[in-house]
Amino acid sequence: MTTVHRIVSGMRPTGPLHLGHYFGVLQNWIQLQQTHKCSFFIADWHALTSEYASPQKIASFVPELLIDWVASGLDPQKSVIFRQSEIMEHAELNLLLGMITPLGWLERNPTYKEIKQELVAKDLNTYGFLGYPVLMSADILMYKATMVPVGQDQLPHLELCREIARRYNYFYGQYFPEPQAQLTETAKLPGLDGRKMSKSYGNAISLGEDLSQMGKKIMSMLTDTDRKRLKDPGDPANCNLFPYLQLLAPGQDFPEIREGCTQATRGCMECKKLLVKKMEEFLAPIQAKRNELKANPDLVQSILDQGTARAREEAQHNMQEIREKMGFGR
Ligand code: SF4
Repeated sequence: MTTVHRIVSGMRPTGPLHLGHYFGVLQNWIQLQQTHKCSFFIADWHALTSEYASPQKIASFVPELLIDWVASGLDPQKSVIFRQSEIMEHAELNLLLGMITPLGWLERNPTYKEIKQELVAKDLNTYGFLGYPVLMSADILMYKATMVPVGQDQLPHLELCREIARRYNYFYGQYFPEPQAQLTETAKLPGLDGRKMSKSYGNAISLGEDLSQMGKKIMSMLTDTDRKRLKDPGDPANCNLFPYLQLLAPGQDFPEIREGCTQATRGCMECKKLLVKKMEEFLAPIQAKRNELKANPDLVQSILDQGTARAREEAQHNMQEIREKMGFGR
């Protein structure tokens, strides 16, 4: 019998979602909600750790994120979808867990220094930025999550969360399960120029991308850089475009493309045209649902309100037990 896990995960509302988000995160969430008890939250307090100087932007992206999630297939009937900052218990648990988290654990966090170096334009010498793994632990432990979908790079954060859970259980008695990682196997989709897909590099296709823009972007996409002319044989394994086709047509191996490419009988333009077609087919239902939701802001708000109410009920119940174990029961 398959174990039903309690799953919690979130995303920061910092901009429109692109294909990298869909194939790297959302697709997995959509599958998980079929068989597990899932909560997915809009991590607007987390966004503040780097965007604290312009919080208005964060607020404006909250409904956008919800629309992208639901249009992509997250089902508010199956998953609890909520906004982190609407549930004050997250802040309370963050405070309590902060009391027991040794500073050295946070300073050792490998991504702390990396992100600080990456985002040099922002002053991240803040208490909030150093402590964001504690807030993340509060988000996860609040719902007694047993499994968290993560990429390889987030494993240290989850280990830190388990250490915090262990420390709480040691001091106050067993309460929190130690959440295990569900390693997301999905391939990382490269950006159109071969670098990591990111809105800031201008190399992404967003879920709401205007289709004519999308076509232009694909036509100027990087393929196999060793293939200068049609008569040069190419290699799909060295091609930036080929993984897109594989993701958009799962299960297909494209033998005719592999053969035509390696024997220099197929031009890259043919692949680009095929990709435009596949991309239109993929984006069309998502965009139709997006447009429907965008035209109905009351529905969007009500999805968020209902999910937040469900999450709040669970958070309030658990928080009362967490307080009581520490001698702060009311
Ligand atoms: S023919 Fe297709 S697979 Fe080969 S390099 Fe060009 S785009 Fe890539």
